[in-house]
Amino acid sequence: MEIITRFAPSPTGYIHIGNVRSAIYPYLLARQNNGKLILRIEDTDRARYVEGATELIEDTLKWLGIDWDEGPIVGGPNGPYFQSERKDIYHTWARKLIESGRAYADPTSPEKIDEYRKECNDKKIPFLYRNYRPENPPEWQPGIPLRFKAEPKEYSWHDEVMGDIQTGPEVLDDIILIKKDGYPTYNFAHIVDDYEMGVTHLMRGVEYLSSTPNYLAIYEALNLDRPKIISLPHILAPNGNKKLGKRDGAKSVTEYREDGILPEAMLNYLACLGWNDGTEQEIYTKEELIKSFSIERIQNSGARYDETKLLWMNGQWIRRIFDEQGIDALYERTLGFWPENAKDATDEYKKKVLSIIYDRLKTLSDLREMTAYFFSDPKIDIDMLVNNKFLKKLAESELESLLKTSISKLSNLKTWDADNLQSTLNELLKSTGKKPAELFSLIRIAVSFAPFSPALHLTLDVLGREVSLARLNAVASAI
Ligand code: GLU
Repeated sequence: MEIITRFAPSPTGYIHIGNVRSAIYPYLLARQNNGKLILRIEDTDRARYVEGATELIEDTLKWLGIDWDEGPIVGGPNGPYFQSERKDIYHTWARKLIESGRAYADPTSPEKIDEYRKECNDKKIPFLYRNYRPENPPEWQPGIPLRFKAEPKEYSWHDEVMGDIQTGPEVLDDIILIKKDGYPTYNFAHIVDDYEMGVTHLMRGVEYLSSTPNYLAIYEALNLDRPKIISLPHILAPNGNKKLGKRDGAKSVTEYREDGILPEAMLNYLACLGWNDGTEQEIYTKEELIKSFSIERIQNSGARYDETKLLWMNGQWIRRIFDEQGIDALYERTLGFWPENAKDATDEYKKKVLSIIYDRLKTLSDLREMTAYFFSDPKIDIDMLVNNKFLKKLAESELESLLKTSISKLSNLKTWDADNLQSTLNELLKSTGKKPAELFSLIRIAVSFAPFSPALHLTLDVLGREVSLARLNAVASAI
């Protein structure tokens, strides 16, 4: 049997980390089994529809390296792939339910429904719409919502992640299938679409678990085989046991992308958030994920979101790209992340900077803060220098003379390269009797006025003789 999965996002704007994870697992399962991934845009909630959101979804998936076999852009035999263009299909299926007596038009006003709800609240009994069904429903026609006619009964089913589940009749109700505006509800549309599109494995957030008995009732009433149900546990906020929300500091996927998280790292991190293959491995390529993924190893409890881990993984991926694909490949990824003052620098020069700093980057946008001094002279900040924890102990006159000694020694260097700089700096340590932390901090701060820099000899090498000496001289005379 061909495995057919789907990702069915609603185009409501923001792409949450959890949304994307619901695309990654179906993608991995489809690719692992030479199956198909369908992208379906669930845009029937017109009030929440956001212009441009579909493009954002497509773009994000492409960025992550997730391609789909059917859906917007690529087309396919089961289209249209926008639910808003499938109204007739839902109406056809809705009519089948009307004909078999399992759906009815419900002209009850929202105010009346509120009254019923209040009545139940007052009596402290659960509100079930099926107890208030209109006695003589009219013919169904546009403008009147269509409801399912539930038959209270027990259900039991197997969820591939959550296990065997049983529910009682109290959870079944007359849910709305088609709204007043003629569009279907999610509850009805996804059942029709998954069936029509041949979906075999339905993976979605666990928030739909409690409605599942109502879905099972619809499958039954329509006599449809249902896909395997795979509920993905929530992603939890860093603290406590609540679902990760915007307030918990998690950014949207777009923001992470703009911050310079690599798609490889994002994919790796999200795939491993709530799934593992039972080994200690943490860094996975897409191909490795496709190979190792299994539904059985999706954990059934919430997975805790940990941004520090994401940043760590991103750092690992930055190094890996450098190690495996080289500086040119890594440089390509950094375009757009350099500081403003780097705009006139040559690619050659920026590659040099990158090659000495890449192993300190957590995100590509760290380049903005960490490299500005390579492109223009930093503002001299004598306070920063004299208050440095290693330099505090030294008198300003001593700092000045140390700088002068260093300048004269460095000026005599015949060839200004990393090796010669390294040995000259070591000789300076000996001749001045200073500790590396003291002497090197002094020179490092004087040329960069930045909190960190790569190894000093590499920094000086990239800055070049002229710039390095000019900066050191300027600081010596400013002390
Ligand atoms: N459109 C639903 C959502 O974005 C999809 C749920 C599902 O995958 O079935 O939450």
